[in-house]
Amino acid sequence: MGKIYDLIIIGAGPAGLTAGLYAGRSRLDTLLIEKGQDGGQIAITSEIENFPGGLSGPDKTESGAELIARMTAQAAHFGVERLSANVSSVELEGRIKRVHTRDKVFESKAVIIATGAHPRMIGCPGEAELTGRGVSYCATCDGSFFEGFEVFVVGGGDTAVEEAIYLTKFARKVTIIHRRDELRAVESIRERAFANDKIEFMWNSIVIGLHGDGILSGMTVKDTKTGKIRLIEADPDDGMFGVFVFIGFQPNSELFFGKVKMEERYILTDEEKHTNVPGVYAAGDVRKTPLRQVITACADGAVAAMQVERDLASGVIG
Ligand code: NAP
Repeated sequence: MGKIYDLIIIGAGPAGLTAGLYAGRSRLDTLLIEKGQDGGQIAITSEIENFPGGLSGPDKTESGAELIARMTAQAAHFGVERLSANVSSVELEGRIKRVHTRDKVFESKAVIIATGAHPRMIGCPGEAELTGRGVSYCATCDGSFFEGFEVFVVGGGDTAVEEAIYLTKFARKVTIIHRRDELRAVESIRERAFANDKIEFMWNSIVIGLHGDGILSGMTVKDTKTGKIRLIEADPDDGMFGVFVFIGFQPNSELFFGKVKMEERYILTDEEKHTNVPGVYAAGDVRKTPLRQVITACADGAVAAMQVERDLASGVIG
């Protein structure tokens, strides 16, 4: 131990990286801890079409990974110290906060929680066993494995429909399975899906079972209106198909259960991103917020870092 940072940021998604950028520019002694790859969910998003100023490249699209690479470089440029580690527990009560990793304990005057969210699972039999064997939560990561095969996408929101469009680059046919008869996705994304010849829709349907001996080759689907159940099997020539699940997200907040106030696992903050614990702030998708986008996560990170700077300067914390 010994060193006390001004700020520890947990999570290097858009919220954490932006907090790092702002903290670095404010000359706060900052440690940014990330357990996986930078970017969180956005790192595995194939196209970002709604980040302002972001229509770059000849085809006017940019991947999440490209956008995140610039954010990472920018935070590093302003002197944020980086650590690749899994945070195992936190002590948030006192004026000095303690963040534990497997090997070490880090101390700081303030903590920004920017741990994001993870994809929600269907929760049906066979899903866990067949994940990575036909079932996927990331089109960018796994789409190319399905070159020429049939693919199903579960969900009707922006993510499901955008990723279904992306998957048509590889799959010979993409069927969107949605539990209602109307998509949740915004009009601009819907239009592109309806205009795509490779995309079909299975309305009022939910997946209740995924089957296969080592590889996904069957799926049981229930009609939400009639209750009728049917088995969908892979084309015998293929012997397999893909199921991509995009049915929303759950916050990565377990580490903070019982330590900061939450509602339905999302961390509650005020407008300045203070949690109910002095010196502890939250930003991005882990926070209870009406909109979860890259732009809102970045804005949260900026507000949180600037508030840390103000609270330290005024002596409210530290
Ligand atoms: P979402 O908007 O919460 O949509 C989740 C979809 O999954 C909905 O269609 C929902 O059905 C369905 N669903 C939920 N639970 C289900 C279950 N247990 N079984 C079957 N279906 C289920 O999630 P998202 O699409 O991932 O989007 C998350 C946020 O990111 C949104 O704010 C979205 O606007 C944003 N986003 C934006 C972009 C973009 O603008 N380019 C791209 C991706 C994401 P119902 O419709 O019936 O509820």
